[in-house]
Amino acid sequence: MAEKTSKLYAIVHAKCPHCRRGDVFTGSMYGFNIQHTKEVCSRCGQRIEIEPGYFYAAMYVSYAMNVVEMLIVSFIIYLLVGPLEDNTFWTYLIVIFAGCFILSPFNYRYSRIILLHILSPNIKYKPYYDNP
Ligand SMILES: [Zn+2]
Repeated sequence: MAEKTSKLYAIVHAKCPHCRRGDVFTGSMYGFNIQHTKEVCSRCGQRIEIEPGYFYAAMYVSYAMNVVEMLIVSFIIYLLVGPLEDNTFWTYLIVIFAGCFILSPFNYRYSRIILLHILSPNIKYKPYYDNP
């Protein structure tokens, strides 16, 4: 019996929620190949976009991630340059926008992964696909 893939591993490595082995995305998170979400898992053949428009819900996840990230970035800026005042205003603004920009591929990827793995009870892990 092959070892089964843990849910955490599948989430971190952006794997298919059905077999935990196939990649959900083409391309890499940061690279010249722009990442796309596959329609069907190339390993187990399950549809990844289970219904049309399914990934619109990922926008809300992405929005929540953005808010959390902005709070974290703001806190880091606070530690570095002090409270938000007139003379630190642009530092806050630029760093927060740069942070959102840099993190957007990450958010794109993980909002969909969170939606697929955590927020979709209809998508079931199928251990019989999870073998080499
Ligand atoms: Zn799969």
